[in-house]
Amino acid sequence: MWQAPLDSVRRILCIGAHSDDIEIGTGGTLLKLAGQASDLEIWWVVFSAPGPRAEEASRSANEFLSGVAHKQVRIGSFRESYFPSEWPSIKDWFEEIKANFDPEVVFTHYRDDRHQDHRVLSDLAWNTFRNHLILEYEILKYDGDLGRPNVFIPLSAEHCTRKIELLLKYFQTQSTKHWFTGDTFEAMHRIRGIECASPTGRAEAFHCRKLVLATKGSERQ
Ligand SMILES: [Zn+2]
Repeated sequence: MWQAPLDSVRRILCIGAHSDDIEIGTGGTLLKLAGQASDLEIWWVVFSAPGPRAEEASRSANEFLSGVAHKQVRIGSFRESYFPSEWPSIKDWFEEIKANFDPEVVFTHYRDDRHQDHRVLSDLAWNTFRNHLILEYEILKYDGDLGRPNVFIPLSAEHCTRKIELLLKYFQTQSTKHWFTGDTFEAMHRIRGIECASPTGRAEAFHCRKLVLATKGSERQ
């Protein structure tokens, strides 16, 4: 299996509809990257976090990003579950982000996610970032919308455990949801770890729709 290095990536944009989406979808990967390089620039943008969820989102993001040299955590106040009707103002926020940050990788929601808020952000990520690597993360849910991801990032047991610890520590408002358990998150790590033959048996997985492969000098033709 060909393995592409992520080590050279420095500028990362994380987009999440709700307070815990980024952590669930790509939290282990971010812990891994933050542990490998001290000069990362990460923008972490949550579009909706009503009431106490804003505080949860902010505290969690800052701990996931502790050790990251340049971080920007933004918490929006768009109306949860109604993102399709807030499309113009959400699009404006994407444009403002793009005007101030040029990421090398964009982590966003899966295009075929069944949550309407997630789909809006996935569509707008593709609409806004036209020459960027976009990786779509997955969120397990009642709707049963998991797809067949094609990009995998193997994770250590330590990073997976840390991700789960932080999720359970910070998102107390979600603790009554039947799916919000450490077992759920670890199950996803194990399934995706098996699918990529991860040495640790654990991974996070993503959907990549477009990948440009370069060779030395090819851009000068
Ligand atoms: Zn969500």
